Amino acid sequence: MKFKPYPVSVSFPESYYTESQILLETALASVPGYNSWRKDDTSPMQNIDLRFAAMPILTKDDLRTHFPEGFLYPCRNLEAGLASKDIEYVKTSGTTGEQVTNIWNQKWWNQSEVASWKLNSNASEVATGAPREAILASPLSVGFKSELGDLPMEKRLLDRFLFLNDMTDSLKWTDTYMDRMIDEINSFRPVRLEANPSLLSKLCRYIVKSRRSVFQPSLIVITYELMSCLHLKHIRAVFNSPVVSSYGTTETGYVFMECEAGKFHQNVDFCRVDFQPLKKEHGGPLIGRILVSVFKNPWTALVRFNVGDLVHIDENQSCSCGRKEGLILSAIEGRTINITLTTAGFVITQRMADEAISSIDDLEEYKFVQTGTKTFDLFVVCTATSFPYITQQAQTILKKLYGEDAMITVRKIDAVVPEVSGKYRIISSELELDEEIFFENINSQKTIQ
Ligand SMILES: [Zn+2]
Repeated sequence: MKFKPYPVSVSFPESYYTESQILLETALASVPGYNSWRKDDTSPMQNIDLRFAAMPILTKDDLRTHFPEGFLYPCRNLEAGLASKDIEYVKTSGTTGEQVTNIWNQKWWNQSEVASWKLNSNASEVATGAPREAILASPLSVGFKSELGDLPMEKRLLDRFLFLNDMTDSLKWTDTYMDRMIDEINSFRPVRLEANPSLLSKLCRYIVKSRRSVFQPSLIVITYELMSCLHLKHIRAVFNSPVVSSYGTTETGYVFMECEAGKFHQNVDFCRVDFQPLKKEHGGPLIGRILVSVFKNPWTALVRFNVGDLVHIDENQSCSCGRKEGLILSAIEGRTINITLTTAGFVITQRMADEAISSIDDLEEYKFVQTGTKTFDLFVVCTATSFPYITQQAQTILKKLYGEDAMITVRKIDAVVPEVSGKYRIISSELELDEEIFFENINSQKTIQ
């Protein structure tokens, strides 16, 4: 039996296998971070998918341990690269366990982004030239920072980009501050609006309440966080522009792009994606984590990097948009660390929990925390009058998802507080989980040939 890297058949261009082979062989032969991996490469004559599957998984810890030289191609000189500004060091935001310093090559990043646009026809239509782009994100992720949010517009412009938000703490946004954002969107008239969905949802709720009108960009690109169904509802109340989710990470570049039909297509020219399914009882084999290997980065070699996210592979690997190459996903399921468990101990992904909670009527914002094996807290932002009905709905919906013996506590709060990274984590668990136990052991797949 031939080795199957996915639970479904996926078609790739021939160049995908060539790129995979060049990357793996170069990494094993001459990149120091992979010294200990060589023993796992049994035969260069072996099928390339099988050779990848035989390799360990690269973690954020590995990146930190071997920084800065460990994953550098041998012909590269860090000092020269930094001096010529070909590269710079970029630190990702997040808690200590999440933070990684990366060697950043802007040229490669831009090329990876441009390649991803062709996976969505609305995106490729506005990809020519240098379209004006407004960005609504935490300045801890991108842009310019000022605690008071008082940077004038000209100091938040860079090339064709306008950074709408300079405040690290989005709880401090005042009506006047949000009026400034609306005025700037109306005068700058961005072709694309790139947004963190939590922040755009907040701005949209204000736009609705204040009955203001806002310029409609040709495209809204969602990134930085998994978009909640609730966020999309708020965005849809204000914008009729196409809304598309783009998935990638600082380390890997652009990995998946949502097409106009709503499925996610792999950016096959710039990355390889290996897959480790969850065990059947936890939602596998179509749901699992992705391990990303990066193509065409001239500076660093990244092989089977665990980005920490779960995806749902499309069962039929077909999409009404007609795109056929690369892995097709029906959904991004969210961060592995945001897994919650039913009272019987089965995995509920971030997307599944969000879909259920977002269906509650009259909810403005929420934060959901699993506090014990059978106990859950749901914090809600809503009007006082809608709170009793929200509580009633939450009990029904969450017991259906987590088990009839789930104990759900619903509390009203004024606002959801973002993480130190400036991003929001609206679904989380206080259980100490060893996530590895939820996954099929990839090594057991290696025996199938
Ligand atoms: Zn499609």
